[in-house]
Amino acid sequence: MIPEDIVERVYDGTATKEDALTLLKVKPFELYALADQIRSETVGDNVTYVVNRNINFTDRCIGTCGFCAFKDKKGYLLTQEQIKEKIDEAVAAGATELCIQGGLMKDVKLDLYLDILRAVKEDYPHIHTHCFSPMEVYHAATSSGLTIEETLAELKENGLNTMPGTAAEILVDRVREIVCPGKITRQQWINVITSAHQAGIRTTSTMMYGHVETWEERIDHILTIRDVQKKTGGITEFVPLPFMPYNNIIGDKILKEGKFMTTGTEDLKVYALARILLNKHVENIQTSWVKLGKKLAQVALLCGGNDLGGTLIEESISKSAGASNGEVISVKELEWIIRGIDRTPVQRDTLYRSI
Ligand code: SF4
Repeated sequence: MIPEDIVERVYDGTATKEDALTLLKVKPFELYALADQIRSETVGDNVTYVVNRNINFTDRCIGTCGFCAFKDKKGYLLTQEQIKEKIDEAVAAGATELCIQGGLMKDVKLDLYLDILRAVKEDYPHIHTHCFSPMEVYHAATSSGLTIEETLAELKENGLNTMPGTAAEILVDRVREIVCPGKITRQQWINVITSAHQAGIRTTSTMMYGHVETWEERIDHILTIRDVQKKTGGITEFVPLPFMPYNNIIGDKILKEGKFMTTGTEDLKVYALARILLNKHVENIQTSWVKLGKKLAQVALLCGGNDLGGTLIEESISKSAGASNGEVISVKELEWIIRGIDRTPVQRDTLYRSI
């Protein structure tokens, strides 16, 4: 049984780390049921999705993330023409959002990022640009001798609408020093995201879990997201992403120790805890069909999730790390999955407005 006082704090949006640790000890189906109840009472029975396309404009990267299976695989950099072709394809397929990210190239300055935004907006001023991780923004700023605020202002002026809250991994420096020592610190991630919100650029938020972090550190991460949201209100959604342990250094180490990727019940507990700890703060919990697979993503919608993410034409980052769930899903299949749990599919835009 879940203690009454914890349920009260969950409903108030004030559940603590200790509450979360207690909740991990209750029977999993009780935890899932609480998360599902909160989901139902706060966002109802619609399950949203977005028609979008990912464009990873380069895999060249000076980063040293130990979990990365994407960097320098082919050593490519898309030309403006190639990017424009992909944008044309996406628009023809009905995409409302372009999610554009890439590796961190040596000697590349802010201009490269601005050129990409202009390439989109020149032809399609109304398509939503959801581009550049906090790490890329930091990289563009430092390589150009600009502040984060100046960089964000330039990006916005040249057409940036929102940003993915990627590069978060686990927002605990002990973990970051092991899995991505060259990356921005927890505080730097918070600073970029907070500055983006203050500049009127909303962001998503993510957590890549299932490598070297503890449950306590996962909870700390989710509570950090809650704190940022309390301050700015600029986060549109939270997306837990299980780590794929194939073709990367951290994964090799884990597999050698006789461990594997996260298990299904563990994934569902993360989704449920996310809904519970972020209640009253972040409305939308996205279940990733790319990482979880279509079947578990559907089940996660019964454990706190209310969004199934994007149709995602082309998703090379997860695929490099061993995800085998495909690079694209049709609207018909997404709706099939949603109707399979008697919920209502709703196409949305990046800011969760119904289309
Ligand atoms: S995760 Fe991103 S920043 Fe890190 S090495 Fe891979 S491409 Fe580079």
